[in-house]
Amino acid sequence: MTRAFSEDRLLVATHNRGKLEEMEHLLAPFGVSVIGAADMNLPEPAETESSFVGNARIKAHAAAKATGLPALADDSGLEVAALGGAPGVHTADWAETGQGRDFVMAMRRVHEELVASGAPEPHRARFVCTLVLAWPDGHDEVFEGSVPGRIVWPMRGGQGHGYDPIFLPDGYDQTFGEMDRWEKNRISHRGRAVARFVDACFG
Ligand code: IMP
Repeated sequence: MTRAFSEDRLLVATHNRGKLEEMEHLLAPFGVSVIGAADMNLPEPAETESSFVGNARIKAHAAAKATGLPALADDSGLEVAALGGAPGVHTADWAETGQGRDFVMAMRRVHEELVASGAPEPHRARFVCTLVLAWPDGHDEVFEGSVPGRIVWPMRGGQGHGYDPIFLPDGYDQTFGEMDRWEKNRISHRGRAVARFVDACFG
């Protein structure tokens, strides 16, 4: 039995502005006040697990313990079929430069590895999102969402964040980088995982 969410504040355990803004937008109808990890000066724990759920658990429990608030953490990434599921849990790492993240570099790497692989188009891919909601007493709930699509090149669109400009979701002719936020959130991996969280915890 899923534990209901009855608090009025939810800590979203991310330092990623793009993810935080999407969560605020997705949770706005439920009257919960959303607080970001950066606003609480929370450190970013090392993501040492090899699965999305393992890393989301680390972030959610660390934040709930540090603040005494229920904490929702997201671990997400892009899986490209012809690259054996890469970058997967290393999606953020591919953008790391040592002085911040460069997603144009990361998207170029996806493209170059696909060219090097010789795999024919379409280059199937999916975004996946695992959400873990942890309470300060150690209980947690896990929710998952994914969205299928393909990788396009060159990059298209200046909206969104991360790898959005090279991801074309199935059934659409706009990349995530070209869609407005409302549209992306309706169909995205994070939108789907949040819908499951809302159904289970606010139902
Ligand atoms: P992590 O979950 O913080 O380890 O990072 C996952 C990485 O996946 C982020 O840095 C983003 O670049 C990428 N990512 C996750 N969700 C999205 C999305 O909705 N659009 C584009 N990139 C995403």
